Amino acid sequence: MPDFTKGAAWIRGEVVPIAEASIGVTDWAVTHSDVTYDVVPVWDGGFFRLGDYLDRFEASVAACHMQIGMDRAAITRALSDMVARSGLRRAYVAMVAARGTPIIPGSRDPRDCANHFYAWCVPYVHVVKPDVAEAGARVWLSDEVRRIPADSVNPLVKNYHWGDFTQGLFEAKEAGFETVLLPDHAGNVTEGPGFNIFALKGDRVVTPQDGVLHGITRRTAIELCAAEGLSIETRALPISELMQADEVFLSTSGGGIIPVAQIGERRFSNGAAGPVALRLRARYFARLEAPDDRTEIEYGA
Ligand SMILES: *Cc1c(COP(=O)(O)O)cnc(C)c1O
Repeated sequence: MPDFTKGAAWIRGEVVPIAEASIGVTDWAVTHSDVTYDVVPVWDGGFFRLGDYLDRFEASVAACHMQIGMDRAAITRALSDMVARSGLRRAYVAMVAARGTPIIPGSRDPRDCANHFYAWCVPYVHVVKPDVAEAGARVWLSDEVRRIPADSVNPLVKNYHWGDFTQGLFEAKEAGFETVLLPDHAGNVTEGPGFNIFALKGDRVVTPQDGVLHGITRRTAIELCAAEGLSIETRALPISELMQADEVFLSTSGGGIIPVAQIGERRFSNGAAGPVALRLRARYFARLEAPDDRTEIEYGA
């Protein structure tokens, strides 16, 4: 019996234990980070907002001029079969479109590459551990690394160009912080490795609009803020304004809405998770259970 406890992958039309899945060393996915991907959560046996994640993934694949030879129904079937075989009820499910290897050896023309799709799933990932999130995360705002400009790498296309985030994470970890936020070149905050950011002041919430991925969890958070009676502004968020906020929180498919207790030396809500952020976090996990946004997985016997 194959061992799927660590996760499963769908690759070349087959579902295999995750440790057995591999791609070639000359794939441009590896040599040029020439990949676009998406990550959809599975919670208690169902995908959350699957249609929205697939919309974004398909738009990313088109933006990269890739052809993966699979339509939406085929992608959905691959993801469902894979998660069902893994047996995972709460999972982090990645779908990937890779540039591939040139069919003419040595070609430098991206049009000569054989694009391909693969997917993998592992037990649900919390970008910030739940106990840390409940207490409020401590986040470092980089003073050395800037988010790569949007006209260099389009942040709306989810990508593996993590050079800036990885540098920032070293800075954060060495300073004793959980994770990192990157500013842009104009003094605004952008996002962090796999999450968006929100600042609450009074009954107004601001989240950056340009130079960031438009997270599906960001969208859910905006909807939940509206349900809380908060007004939302999607626009540039200057660092000075961020630091004046009453509360700050992050949004990600890897852990939902995450209260922030501290950014650098600045503490919010007396160094604890803010009450509004905690309420939004609870609402997020309740929403994962709500039937409307779920696509149930048929696990079989
Ligand atoms: C995935 C990601 C996010 C969060 O998006 P979700 O769809 O909410 O998971 C934010 N920023 C970056 C850079 C990301 O890769």
